Amino acid sequence: MLVTPKPKCPFCGTIVSYDKPVGKPHECTGCRALLQRSRSDSARQFWASVVVSVGICWFGFGLRGWRLAAWTVVVLLAVDFLLIVIGERIRPTPMEPYDGHKIIG
Ligand SMILES: [Zn+2]
Repeated sequence: MLVTPKPKCPFCGTIVSYDKPVGKPHECTGCRALLQRSRSDSARQFWASVVVSVGICWFGFGLRGWRLAAWTVVVLLAVDFLLIVIGERIRPTPMEPYDGHKIIG
């Protein structure tokens, strides 16, 4: 059975629930710290999705020029979604202290 790992609070190690109000930071139940998913880790994941999407369109479909750019955006939506779903089952995005900026999701 595949066990999905859960993100942990960087301060006290308590497992942080994925459930939270949309647009609000996570709140650790152990120490009440406000947390967010690591922005740098999310950015790395996004750029990995861009590279994979360009590779699929370039090598897989043989697209070039504007067609490559347009289809990369379309393929990126699917690839990014799949990498998030699969990636969270392998290694959850690390949590970091909430920086006060906008939370997406
Ligand atoms: Zn905590």
